Amino acid sequence: MEPVGDVKLLMFADDILLLSKAPASYIFTDKLRLPLTIIEKWAQRYALSINMDKTNFIMFPFKKIPTYIPRLKIFGRSIGYSRIIKYLGLHFDEKLTWHQHFSILKDRTQNLQGKLMRYTRATWGVKPQIFKEIYTKAIESYILYGSEIWYSDLVKLNLKLNQIQRISLSTIVKNYRTVSTEALNILSGCPPLDIVAKVKKEKFDLLFKNRALVSHDFILNREDIDIVNFNFQPLWEAFIIPWTMNMDPEVNEHKIFTDGSKWNDQVGCGAICFDNYGQEQWSFSFRLSNNASVFIAEAVAIMESIKKIIHIDHVCYIFTDSRSVLMALASCSDQTTIIEEIKLLLKNNLNIKLCWINAHVGISGNEIADSLAKEATKRQDIDINIKYSKKWLKNHLQKIRVACWQLRWELSPKARFTFGLLPQVSVHRCFGDFFLNQFLTGHGVFPVYQMKFFGKSDLCYCERDQGTITHYLYGCPLFHQIRRGISLRTSLDWDLWSFCLYPKQERVYVL
Ligand SMILES: [Zn+2]
Repeated sequence: MEPVGDVKLLMFADDILLLSKAPASYIFTDKLRLPLTIIEKWAQRYALSINMDKTNFIMFPFKKIPTYIPRLKIFGRSIGYSRIIKYLGLHFDEKLTWHQHFSILKDRTQNLQGKLMRYTRATWGVKPQIFKEIYTKAIESYILYGSEIWYSDLVKLNLKLNQIQRISLSTIVKNYRTVSTEALNILSGCPPLDIVAKVKKEKFDLLFKNRALVSHDFILNREDIDIVNFNFQPLWEAFIIPWTMNMDPEVNEHKIFTDGSKWNDQVGCGAICFDNYGQEQWSFSFRLSNNASVFIAEAVAIMESIKKIIHIDHVCYIFTDSRSVLMALASCSDQTTIIEEIKLLLKNNLNIKLCWINAHVGISGNEIADSLAKEATKRQDIDINIKYSKKWLKNHLQKIRVACWQLRWELSPKARFTFGLLPQVSVHRCFGDFFLNQFLTGHGVFPVYQMKFFGKSDLCYCERDQGTITHYLYGCPLFHQIRRGISLRTSLDWDLWSFCLYPKQERVYVL
């Protein structure tokens, strides 16, 4: 379609989106007349009809709410003006506050959770780990859909997000309703949703907007990340590099042994080349930057060797003990740029053959390459800088999430009792036991809690003291039998954990 001024047209599946800007709202009436006629003609040419019930327009004002509503028509019928418009699953409101989007999201999450609640209650049901899996894999992504666009670090928005997350977390962590969201995050091992959304947006900004990712004193730029250019080769033109595993390393041919190594977090690679008569021709060793994996080191050794022999006109064998690199070369999906580069180098060179050998079985060439690589790891200076892999980026983002969460947990004024027991945040934790959680949160059948929330007496049934958690653990005579049941330790050794680890059935009886 011909471009008309600064009007932009986006077509996605059966959606048509027309974007335009103007300093005053009345201008749109005239400005959009021509583009709408073009769409009309286009639709007529392909015998397509437009559903007027789903056709709307919205204005995003800079400051004031526009008083004049422009009149837009298509196929002779007026296009309805709307303050909220749904496009690709997101609800845009005119001030871009996303309130409507969140309230719809909240209702839907509640609905979804209501269905999941059929399979669990406080004392029975599906394992909490399964609910955690459903939450992290499905519900969290559902809530955060489009967050790269709508997320901004505003207090109100963050609160809203955590409210929505709370609905799901209370299904994983079974406990009293009064427990704070912070405690729910800790017990379920799910970081606060606003932190997850924030890091997700930072990743998007880094990869697509070229904005550096800053965490503490570490700055990560897009150029530092190894992003495979998938457009480089269409899938039908993808090719693989074959390799063998039955080649005799003592063969009287031109041959190279390569190896990579990691030692004390430092990475190196090395290679040695022999001619037909077994005479050493050349060797090299490089230290790589510390973020490189052994896989990358092995691949670099192979690539550097290939570069040295690319022009030879006779057969040459490269022996490596890294099966993973060979398998990556024999696979169609490229995960790293270096594998892609090796493939390109070998694509038109049939003289170079790749062979796999067993490591550490006394093959002299392999042993020399191994010691060359090990030596390189001890060097002071880095010879080759390796870009950060996608896997590394994933781990790095996870570390940022956890560090952010840890800081918030330490500074939060809420759930300090739980903080005393679980000061460290962890994503691997998942406490879903209704009884255990009463002890971990202090929200439960304890008389002090019952007094605080329901105005009941705070005395224990034994009437000797207040019914606090410590009273039950150390003082209450009613629980004497239970304490004796775990009396292998002295009573001073008694702690919450040994109580909580006590057989579940009997604990139920106690409570
Ligand atoms: Zn008591």
